[in-house]
Amino acid sequence: MSDYKGVMIYCEVAEGKLVAIATELLGCGRKLADDLGEELCAVLAGSGVSGLAQEAIAFGADKVYVVDDALLKEYETDSYVSVIEKVARQVMPQIILMGQTNTGRDLAPRLAFRLETAVTLDCVELAIDPDSKLLQMTKPVYGGNARAIFASESYPQMATVRVKAMTPLERDDSRKGEVISVEAGLDASAIRTKVLETVVEEVEGIKLEDANIIVTGGRGIGGPEGFEDLAQLAKLLKAAVGASRPPCDNGWVPDTMQVGLTGRIVSPDLYIAVALSGSSQHLAGCSGSKSIVAINRDPEANIFKEASYGVVGDWKKIIPAFTEKVKELLAG
Ligand SMILES: Cc1cc2nc3c(=O)[nH]c(=O)nc-3n(C[C@H](O)[C@H](O)[C@H](O)COP(=O)(O)OP(=O)(O)OC[C@H]3O[C@@H](n4cnc5c(N)ncnc54)[C@H](O)[C@@H]3O)c2cc1C
Repeated sequence: MSDYKGVMIYCEVAEGKLVAIATELLGCGRKLADDLGEELCAVLAGSGVSGLAQEAIAFGADKVYVVDDALLKEYETDSYVSVIEKVARQVMPQIILMGQTNTGRDLAPRLAFRLETAVTLDCVELAIDPDSKLLQMTKPVYGGNARAIFASESYPQMATVRVKAMTPLERDDSRKGEVISVEAGLDASAIRTKVLETVVEEVEGIKLEDANIIVTGGRGIGGPEGFEDLAQLAKLLKAAVGASRPPCDNGWVPDTMQVGLTGRIVSPDLYIAVALSGSSQHLAGCSGSKSIVAINRDPEANIFKEASYGVVGDWKKIIPAFTEKVKELLAG
């Protein structure tokens, strides 16, 4: 254990920018590193990413390891696992964190295997145990019905963290840090997959994962027309529209709108749940919301147990009245 020191964050980059989860992880990693009295380092891997090192420092890193190589232009499992492993062996951190994203989900278990350690996926809270100094990793279990706290007996202790579960630090461009360049040392022939094409998902309006407000409809919406009413309200609130599984299964809305265990996991500031019962599988995708407002005609609906505010009634009366009120407030 004494060989392992500090906290290491893998910072994802997309379209030449740090993705939001990277700054969230840096904020959380800073706190963990301070609690341990150790350093926080960030890893940037990609092609043309060197310019982002100062940004990682501004968001909390003491050191940034940069692996800048043309072979890292696109995320590829073989190349990225290989370079992150290389940096991890050089740094020997006691904690490694990455986002619970498509990349993090792919990278973390493979990296853990190579480093002969374990990884806890999809954490929503991380803390240092004051006695053991071990990382306590909290994650939802049983479809979001309970939370379990894990600790690892092997090093480095690894976790992936749910998007929006942590808060970034205020950006401070006056922060100073060290930037260390690492050779990728990649052999192109060892990269067994190749990205042939990237298809950008067409989303009208705001993406679910990026939205601060989400208006979600359930089976009780009754059909695709009802979702147009929700879209009207969403537009006024600058919100995204989501759905429980039945509207997607029924073809009323695209599958990409599904929130839940087998859909998107979201954690907006405000989640307006309309005519959905609040099944455990649905709540697994939205229980991280800061505030849930439920609209349901059944006062016994499970969603009211999770909601901060509830309206019992027919959405067909409530949503138009609510939309009018929002219009009035925005105008005035
Ligand atoms: C392995 C597995 C994975 C799953 N993954 C997901 C997932 O990712 N996401 C997901 O959502 N589900 C998922 N499900 C399905 C889940 O179990 C529920 O069946 C589903 O969430 C129910 O959707 P709902 O709440 O919209 O429908 P219902 O449970 O039928 O609820 C409809 C609600 O609408 C209310 N209502 C009806 N009419 C009105 C009205 N006019 N005004 C106001 N309220 C009204 C009713 O009172 C009721 O509470 C999964 C299931 C399994 C087994």
